[in-house]
Amino acid sequence: MRKNCLLLRIGELALKGKNKRDFEHQLMDNIKNKCKNMTGISVLKTEGRIFVEFDDQDLLDPVIEELKTVFGLVGFAPALRIPSDVEMLEETALELVRQQVPEVKTFKVASKRVDKRFPVRSQELNHRLGGYLLQHYPGLKVDVHQPDLIVHVEIRGKHSYVYGNDIPGIGGLPVGSSGRVLLLLSGGIDSPVAGYLALKRGVELQAIHFHSYPYTSERAKQKVLDLAKQLTTYGNHIRIHVVPFTEIQTEINKHCFESYSITVMRRIMLRIAERIAQSQNALALVTGESLGQVASQTLESMNTINEVTHMPILRPVIGMDKHDIMEISRRIGTYETSILPYEDCCTVFLPKAPKTKPDLHVAKKQEAKLDLERLIDEAVIGTEVIEISNEKEREFSYF
Ligand code: ATP
Ligand code: MG
Repeated sequence: MRKNCLLLRIGELALKGKNKRDFEHQLMDNIKNKCKNMTGISVLKTEGRIFVEFDDQDLLDPVIEELKTVFGLVGFAPALRIPSDVEMLEETALELVRQQVPEVKTFKVASKRVDKRFPVRSQELNHRLGGYLLQHYPGLKVDVHQPDLIVHVEIRGKHSYVYGNDIPGIGGLPVGSSGRVLLLLSGGIDSPVAGYLALKRGVELQAIHFHSYPYTSERAKQKVLDLAKQLTTYGNHIRIHVVPFTEIQTEINKHCFESYSITVMRRIMLRIAERIAQSQNALALVTGESLGQVASQTLESMNTINEVTHMPILRPVIGMDKHDIMEISRRIGTYETSILPYEDCCTVFLPKAPKTKPDLHVAKKQEAKLDLERLIDEAVIGTEVIEISNEKEREFSYF
């Protein structure tokens, strides 16, 4: 008879036609997936609105917590679905207010009669419900301009909905609606944030990490897996490719100019990332590069490094200050893991004076000293694949 639900407000209003339908289906699938461990939940679309419905009122808070991490939602409001009956509307509006007093001091009722057969007109219903609420809470005041609470009432045929203020969602596009990308995930602060921002644009994320055991420890690898796990809060499931990078780094160290070691290393990383991306049908690479932050992130350096691939490289944090990146990283829960002190393969082999404007011809010459094809093939073959979901981890190798 009476149903608890959450009325969802979706973003990207400009979306139309098939795009909008795909967007909504993806969003509904993602929400179902998030709530799959809760019983008695359904996600449905009726009369052009998307709802999450459930019988057990105790599920309200857990569902809200899940929805706060779903991209594509601009907001959502706890609502009650009841039969379209004036007395029931009064009781339900009163219950909504009861939940929110004493924080709420002012309110207004906003009724919408979608079904014109309902005998009471919106304006009249506003007065009637408003009067009923004031009778029970004489301390409340009506404020039609800036009320603390808007009691929304929607009369839709046999059923009506009563709901309060919106809880803000995180916006963006539903994960899975924009194709697949491969994130170069280090243990630092920037790349997890870049991954988060890519997810926000609706991509499905896989990750690749270059690991130089024993120069970098098992703990350094675990740190990256933990970061990927934290990203699954937003991305449901992440496949991470861990590439053995020790031999490549030692070869670079042995044969190449020290000042070019980072440039050469990055060029090789990109080649391997491209190979893995292609094998996974990923259409772009994503990095946490931010212009000017370190030696390898000047425009000259990016040109020299980028030259090895034709794949688009997305750099979601390119225009951000470190401070802004750190703020996002704190908000999404990756910061505490990112600042753990475990060494990264880039820091272990860090040259004293890396070239800030590496020349392409010199980089190519340095690279020519290496048996590139073999090194890259072996790294790809030795790559370990780890599936990370919100719940459990499973390991297996491929190729
Ligand atoms: P981050 O905080 O993401 O580590 P950073 O500021 O330390 O970035 P760099 O070390 O120059 O910058 O790395 C630039 C980008 O290269 C990283 O954001 C990441 O996308 C990629 N990268 C660096 N090291 C690795 C690694 N070991 N495995 C995978 N990707 C890496
Ligand atoms: Mg780093």
